[in-house]
Amino acid sequence: MKETFAIETTRENIKQTLDTVKLKAMDFEEAQEIIEKIDALSNTPGKRSKEIDILRGRLRNSSVTVETLPEFRILLELVFGVDSPDVQNALEHENAHANVVQQEGAIFTGYSLLVAKDGEEYNFLPGTDYETPKRWSVKKREDVYERILNAPNKYGNELSESDRIRLSKLEE
Ligand SMILES: [Zn+2]
Repeated sequence: MKETFAIETTRENIKQTLDTVKLKAMDFEEAQEIIEKIDALSNTPGKRSKEIDILRGRLRNSSVTVETLPEFRILLELVFGVDSPDVQNALEHENAHANVVQQEGAIFTGYSLLVAKDGEEYNFLPGTDYETPKRWSVKKREDVYERILNAPNKYGNELSESDRIRLSKLEE
């Protein structure tokens, strides 16, 4: 009984956060531009981390981030519908990324859902947030980044289109 109450409270909190983010959600085109900029900067050696942090902050402002898989399930069910196969697929996909983040010693910071306005509709992009330890070399960061991108493959889930694009850019 107590547990049911806790889950209901969690669901209510997540729904409120989602509704708040929807009101201030950025346009889908703008979100895509920012994601492309971050990817381009990430592939450029050198100290661009400040600019990347600012861009990430803008995406975060249009995202809901939760810490655990049960919370992430609630969030995904709210946007895709309880019976949608997209829920389980996104859970498995992002969990695969998160597992490799932790195996590699990077710092998992949450499961996220980017909320973007597309005309009268919304687009929802699930993701896994993490940071890399400051002491890591550029080479180490790149190797780990590649393994994190590839994680769904390893766990029998499909790579997303953005995973594939990012991996192919690494091979250039
Ligand atoms: Zn992915």
